[in-house]
Amino acid sequence: MINVSGVTKTYGSRKAVEDVTFDVAAGRVTGFVGPNGAGKSTTMRMMVGLTHPDRGEVRYAGTRYSDLVNPARLVGSVLDAKCMHPGRTARNHLKAMAAASDIPMSRVDEVLGSVGLETAANQRAGKFSLGMKQRLALAGALLGNPEVLLLDEPANGLDPDGIRWLRNELRSFADKGGTVFVSSHLISELSQFADDLVVIGGGRLLVSESLGAIESRSERSIVVRTPQVVELSALLSAHTSEVEFTGDRLVARGMTSEDVSNLIFDHRIRVTELTEVTRSLEDNLIDMTSASAEFASA
Ligand code: ADP
Repeated sequence: MINVSGVTKTYGSRKAVEDVTFDVAAGRVTGFVGPNGAGKSTTMRMMVGLTHPDRGEVRYAGTRYSDLVNPARLVGSVLDAKCMHPGRTARNHLKAMAAASDIPMSRVDEVLGSVGLETAANQRAGKFSLGMKQRLALAGALLGNPEVLLLDEPANGLDPDGIRWLRNELRSFADKGGTVFVSSHLISELSQFADDLVVIGGGRLLVSESLGAIESRSERSIVVRTPQVVELSALLSAHTSEVEFTGDRLVARGMTSEDVSNLIFDHRIRVTELTEVTRSLEDNLIDMTSASAEFASA
């Protein structure tokens, strides 16, 4: 649905985004992850024509954003949830947006309902908490009944209930065939509901893959506690070069827990614990992004 190809943006001598290429598929939630300063907002601004790339381009189903006839009807975006007139009521804020994009006024109350702001419709946005502003901003993005939702850090300011609500909203938008591209500096948050991840660090693309593919590369190790640690280490060393132990605790990599357990059984070794430990997705991504930070500052 969205093709971002080779986008590059430099501010003075600082390369905010460098030659970043990825696709975002319809019917899926794609998380855009990277630490603060990685280039997420700059990339998203280039995706909706708010920042002009020095090089590269962004296309929606083959059409450049700038060539879309009515972009608000195809792409609903929230790049800054706080960006609203503080003196306007929630309803009037949405009415002004609808008028600007030629969207029927009947949509205003529909979207207020779908983000749970019916009762706050006549309150001024300036008095809203950040969480309520996030809901109002999402209502604005939904106004034109878009096929694509592009949201920069939408969970900021939401309480745990609000985050669960947001996750469900985005999931059901994607399940109906919509395209969701949502950024966060919190990997754990996105890994709970994204289908695909685009990971960026130091302005460069690090990974663009399904969550499952990234997780399947996670390193596994088998931890065993045994009074016969030397004996078990010698046995396992015939199967893998990655065995180490301290005290009664042994760690083996490159073997499944089933293989280790079979060896233990066959050689009648007494164990007090056998655990499979998988590095979390979060650990893997933190490693990737911190390596890129070192690269960027080198
Ligand atoms: P993220 O959204 O991942 O936190 P940004 O895209 O906001 O990252 O920023 C990437 C880099 O570009 C940062 O070093 C930031 O300081 C710089 N940057 C972003 N926008 C501007 C701008 N308008 N002028 C100068 N530097 C900018």
